[in-house]
Amino acid sequence: LQQRVPVPAARDEVYFLAVTLNEMIESLDTVLSRQRRFVADASHELRTPVAVIRSTTDVALLHASTREEYISVLRNVNIEAERLGRLINDLLALARGDEGKIKLEHEPVRLDQVADVVAANADTIAEENGVTIHRPQLEPVTVLGDETRLIQMIMNLLDNAIIYTNPGGSVTLSVRATPTNAVVTIKDTGIGIDQEHLAHIFERFYRVDQARVRNAGGSSGLGLAIVDWTVQAHHGTITVESQPGLGSTFTVSLPRAIEAAPKESVLIGSR
Ligand code: ADP
Repeated sequence: LQQRVPVPAARDEVYFLAVTLNEMIESLDTVLSRQRRFVADASHELRTPVAVIRSTTDVALLHASTREEYISVLRNVNIEAERLGRLINDLLALARGDEGKIKLEHEPVRLDQVADVVAANADTIAEENGVTIHRPQLEPVTVLGDETRLIQMIMNLLDNAIIYTNPGGSVTLSVRATPTNAVVTIKDTGIGIDQEHLAHIFERFYRVDQARVRNAGGSSGLGLAIVDWTVQAHHGTITVESQPGLGSTFTVSLPRAIEAAPKESVLIGSR
C-alpha cells in the first residue's frame, strides 16, 4: 500500500478525514509488512531442518552400508523431525494468536503451584546441563487465566534460563504476592544478554547468537515471542535485566485474581 490520500490545505472536515485515512493506511502498512516478514522468516526456519533431512538421507542412500550407519542417520532425522514439530507448534500458536482465534480460559490458577510443578519437571534437563534450580520463595497467589498457557510461559522462561547457563550455574525461580499482583521471577547465573540485544529478544525469530542455535537444544527463536503474547493476553507485564557474563533476570507480573469476599461478611453487612 503505497498510496496516501491527498490532504487539503484547509483544516476542514475533509482535511481531518484525509489525515485519519492516511494514519489507517500507515498502520495497515506496518501490520502487512510485519506479517510478510513473519512468513518469510518462518519459511526460512522451516527450510533448514528439511534441508538437513534431505542431505542426511541422500548421503545415507549413497554410502551407508552398516547397521550403525543407518541408525546414526535415523537418529539425525529424528532430531530434525522433532525440531520441525516444535517449530510448527510454535508457529501455529503465534498465528492463531494473531488471528485472535485463541480462546483463553479465564479460571483461577495458583501461580505458585504451577511454578513448582514446572520447576520439578525441569529438574532432569537442568541436571543434564549441570545447572541447579532453586525455589526459595513460592508464595501462594492466584491469577485469573489459562493454566496451559501459564505453564508454557514459565516453562519457556525456565528452559531458556537453563540452556543459557553454563554448567555449575544456577537458576532461581520465585513467586511473590503483592497486594495487586503475582510476580514471577526467573533469575539465572548464565551468559547474560548484551544491552544492544535486550530490546529485541521478544521479537519473533530473534536470536542473539545464531551460532549457538543448533546446539542449544532445539531453539526456535519463538519462545520469548510466545511468552510475551501470553503475558499481554493476561494483562500483565514482562521485564528483563541482564549483565553479560553474570546472568539475566526475567520478571513477569500478572494482576491477582480478586478473591470473593467470605459469605459471613455479606451476612454481617445485611444485619
Ligand atoms: P530461543 O528459542 O532461541 O531460545 P527465545 O525467543 O526463547 O528463542 O529467546 C530469544 C533469544 O534471547 C535467545 O536466542 C537467546 O539469545 C536470548 N535469551 C533468552 N533467554 C535468555 C537467558 N535466560 N539468558 C541469555 N540469553 C537469553
